[in-house]
Amino acid sequence: MREPTEFLADLEARLQSLREAGLFKQERVLCTPQGPLVHTADGRELINLCANNYLGLSAHPQVIEAAHAALRSHGYGLSSVRFICGTQDLHKRLEQRLARFLGTDDAILYAAAFDANGGLFEPLLGEEDVVISDELNHASIIDGIRLCKARRMRYRHDDMADLERQLQQAQAEGARFSMVFTDGVFSMDGTVARLDEMRTLCDRHGAWLAIDECHATGFMGATGRGTHQHHGLLVDGRSRVDIITGTLGKALGGASGGFTAGPQPVIDLLRQRSRPYLFSNTLAPPIVGASIAVLDLLESSTTLRDALHANTRHFRQAIRAAGFEIKPGDHPIVPIMVYDAVIAQRLSARLLELGVYAVGFFYPVVPQGQARIRVQLSAAHDPAMLDRAVAAFAQAGHELGLLK
Ligand SMILES: *Cc1c(COP(=O)(O)O)cnc(C)c1O
Repeated sequence: MREPTEFLADLEARLQSLREAGLFKQERVLCTPQGPLVHTADGRELINLCANNYLGLSAHPQVIEAAHAALRSHGYGLSSVRFICGTQDLHKRLEQRLARFLGTDDAILYAAAFDANGGLFEPLLGEEDVVISDELNHASIIDGIRLCKARRMRYRHDDMADLERQLQQAQAEGARFSMVFTDGVFSMDGTVARLDEMRTLCDRHGAWLAIDECHATGFMGATGRGTHQHHGLLVDGRSRVDIITGTLGKALGGASGGFTAGPQPVIDLLRQRSRPYLFSNTLAPPIVGASIAVLDLLESSTTLRDALHANTRHFRQAIRAAGFEIKPGDHPIVPIMVYDAVIAQRLSARLLELGVYAVGFFYPVVPQGQARIRVQLSAAHDPAMLDRAVAAFAQAGHELGLLK
């Protein structure tokens, strides 16, 4: 055994190799609420193009007021897990409202979507069962699947022929139950999963279809219900996707919290057996009250959703007109392709100097040679702000020789 003091030296060495590989993540300190414009600790104002604040609700007056109201009426925290003494009327109301919004029987709250995914598979699936997962699924899905005893199969990203091969193999090998799991929208590309085709394949092979809607709930589909609505899988208000996980930490207000929505026996069993639910604290009342107010807003009008999509169309058109290549699509995640990791970092740094906050992503977060700046639009941006951002992109792009 090595000296315990060497442990710290070993950690320092690992940190140093992250720095040398250019993989060390620096956190930028903001001193304003989350919004389309933010101020950094050094007093600069930035146009913010990298928050998941899709509907601009992170600092919305009605949301803040609802959080205050719940804080006053229901207190700061519950000091308990749900099943001991941590369930308030507010929690039950939010679960019912989420289920209605998404078209499922019921829903269950978690401290985070990471926990919703982490605690989903193990209670539901045993070793006779199979989970078939898109190879680019979110880390929390990968971890959740690792924790369960079911056989794990992967299909190539967004490849329906490969998914069908995996389904056939699961059937041939005598799987009891199969569950296909995908991100509804993939966060690095803004790719929307082909849920309509996936539903058909799952029906053909007797599999369940489950999705993670962190980048969809609140704004995908005609009334913002999610990718299932976008693909015609919300029929008479009922979801044709079996299980939906999602977050309160992105479009739905941006605080924190997650949920799983689905058939009654699924939710009932998760309440009995899902470890992150059983062994982690109740969601704080201000978040729960504010989330109910968010659903009130979204069910009463599509104004925010419509503004988000208008901003998305505007930005996608303008950045292309400026000469940049973007991944095609219509999602508010807009990957601006740079390919070269060093140039992507330089572009992001130069944009920051020009007052635009947009982060570069490169290997291993995206495949080798696929470096990009990922922009995320918000309903809270306005077109003039976006035009200023595009002008900064154009200037930086010319300076770096990316644009001719
Ligand atoms: C952000 C994200 C999560 C985690 O959500 P939290 O509520 O922040 O834990 C899970 N899945 C996907 C696809 C995400 O993008």
